[in-house]
Amino acid sequence: MALPTQLTAVPGTDKLYLWDPKGTGLWGYANCLWVISGPDAAVIDTPYDGPMTEAMIAAARPRLGSRTVGTVVNTHANGDHTFGNYLFPDAEIIATRAGHDHLHHEPTPQEMHALVHQSSADVPLGRYLRDHFGVFDFSSARLTAPTLTFSGQHMFRVGDTEVELHEVGPAHHVGDLVARIGDVVCTGDVFFHGDHPTHWAGPLQNVINACELVLSLNPRVVIPGHGRPTDQAGLEEHLVYLRTVQREVRLRYEAGLTADKAMDDLFRRDFYPHLGLPERLMIVIAVEYSHLSGGSAAPTVLELAGQAALWSYR
Ligand SMILES: [Zn+2]
Repeated sequence: MALPTQLTAVPGTDKLYLWDPKGTGLWGYANCLWVISGPDAAVIDTPYDGPMTEAMIAAARPRLGSRTVGTVVNTHANGDHTFGNYLFPDAEIIATRAGHDHLHHEPTPQEMHALVHQSSADVPLGRYLRDHFGVFDFSSARLTAPTLTFSGQHMFRVGDTEVELHEVGPAHHVGDLVARIGDVVCTGDVFFHGDHPTHWAGPLQNVINACELVLSLNPRVVIPGHGRPTDQAGLEEHLVYLRTVQREVRLRYEAGLTADKAMDDLFRRDFYPHLGLPERLMIVIAVEYSHLSGGSAAPTVLELAGQAALWSYR
């Protein structure tokens, strides 16, 4: 996978630059937005492993000049948005308190390394992890926790540019936030553009509410956690998809289908065939089922990934 060797200016802005690894159809390649303003610089989300983060910093160097990155924002605690934090040792690292409190539930880089390389390739989860995560090099990253947490809203400045953070979790994850800089909004993973999403926390209504909050900020540019930047129309189209998933899953739950039967039934009908990674919907359905049934025994990340892997190879 060829990583971008330069930052791309966000159209219509002169202080925002995207590091866009073009991760549609793949796990783990998140968008990272740079704010370079006056003597300061910030980055919203860091890549999944050390080599990718080093590549991003090298790509940013011509724009960055002699500035150091003073602030890192993590939209949520998943490793593909946080593992690169360790390469910004001088930065304040901002996340929601809920995201920070959940950090110990996430696999560390070392645990991801072991999961990918030591779990048996003869079981679906082991094979899936190798197929989709074997490309990453988790060996050098160290878990680096946020240094500043908030609930609700938080504002900070990069030079003369204001960055406004809005907590929207639990939705994709327990501690999601979205970031607004002028008329540009970074959604984190409440919005995947071009693929079926994965949502670990839910319920789907919370993801829908988060996307509606993004629209209420009236953005000109919407930068999804993964996939191509778009506009309000692109996000509205995704909201139609989310509401359809919510309705179709509820119908199947009420009809007494198990989660995996609901998944099979949806895909017998060619459900959004132009979107990538259909097996991820198994995770969304399992999480939604857990909420519909009262949510007492929420499945773990590994149980969810195991179900998606099983469906993928069936
Ligand atoms: Zn992500």
